[in-house]
Amino acid sequence: MTESDLVELRRELHRHPEPAWCEFYTTARIVEELERRDLDGLYVGPEVLDDDRIGVPDDAELDAWVERARDAGAREDVLRGLDGGYTGAVAVAERGDGPTVALRVDIDALPIEESSDVDHVPASEGFRSENEGYMHACGHDAHAAIGLGVLDAVLDSDFAGTLKVFFQPGEERIVGGEPMANSGHLDDVDALLAVHVGLDHPTGQVVAGIDGFLAVSQFEATFRGTPAHAGARPESGENAMQAAATAVSNLYGISRHADGATRVNVGVIEGGTATNIVPERVGIEGEVRGETTELMQYMDERARRVIRSAAEMHGCGVDIERAGVAPSTESDDDLRAVVGEVARDTPGVTSVLDSDHLGGSEDATYLMRRVQERGGSAAYVCVGTDHPGGHHTSTFDVDEETIGIAVDVLARSLLAWSRRGD
Ligand SMILES: [Zn+2]
Ligand SMILES: [Zn+2]
Repeated sequence: MTESDLVELRRELHRHPEPAWCEFYTTARIVEELERRDLDGLYVGPEVLDDDRIGVPDDAELDAWVERARDAGAREDVLRGLDGGYTGAVAVAERGDGPTVALRVDIDALPIEESSDVDHVPASEGFRSENEGYMHACGHDAHAAIGLGVLDAVLDSDFAGTLKVFFQPGEERIVGGEPMANSGHLDDVDALLAVHVGLDHPTGQVVAGIDGFLAVSQFEATFRGTPAHAGARPESGENAMQAAATAVSNLYGISRHADGATRVNVGVIEGGTATNIVPERVGIEGEVRGETTELMQYMDERARRVIRSAAEMHGCGVDIERAGVAPSTESDDDLRAVVGEVARDTPGVTSVLDSDHLGGSEDATYLMRRVQERGGSAAYVCVGTDHPGGHHTSTFDVDEETIGIAVDVLARSLLAWSRRGD
């Protein structure tokens, strides 16, 4: 694919943003593209994910997204293979003797209403989201295009070895990384690059290896009380609202840890029906993070204790469900050095940083750790892009020049790695 084909594909995916486990159109389009390439393996849906998945929407919601994908022209035979919300794909190309190198890109979108302002390029250029209320507000549309571009660039070269490209679903809810990491497809990978555009770095800047991923664990807790008339029989109620409120304020009271940074946040609370009813059911959604996986686990254990105790204090029951989770990791120096050297020599790259702290979380860490635990190297590369709005906002957009730069940097880095020691 030429650079302008990649831009066109990015715009097409931008028009069809889909959230975690609902990337039906996106996966179908990627598979269609991959089928045109000379591959030795193309694995789709259930073949690229371990069975143990969390956060899968109910059948009605999955069906609605399949229907939307079908209406948009997704191929029926591919859609059938994604039944149950098994989205994503892995492409494998074997080109003789050499190491196995890999690239991971994510493909999902966010529940955000996209700006229709004339200053917002997707709106003025006619590729604004057609799935109202959803938006590619993090650049994963560009990531999917970059994945195909890197595949083409490596296969067009004299590469010797095996190349795998992972098109991962469900990053935004940090639910796709773990089942893909456990699929077995990473177990023979010697070097893995993951990529993100933007992250407040301008077009032309490349970060060879991002560090400082916070380990994260998200939870949903549902408090169940006993309803009662708030005026006539308040004493016979067990108040789920009070239990939830007690939990929220005490979650923020978990002690800091001497070993490093931690975070806690409750981002959603909902429940109750009327002022004169002692609330029967209240749900909260929150998350804890840590500079290391151990610090995150410390926060997670304490958070669960707070939630259970808050329920107990107010005579309520509580169900705590784990939502997304991701470990911490670092980019490896050997791979970071290769990317840095290649980037400094790539047209369009104006500055290269060896490292930067993400300060957030990413479930690419599951894939990176899988490779690192087996003796391979992994690095998380950031390719800067001028983005008018911040990530996860309605005016986020990608400077499309970034797509070509990212393809060059990543493809040439994988090639350079594969030739090490020649
Ligand atoms: Zn994001
Ligand atoms: Zn992202």
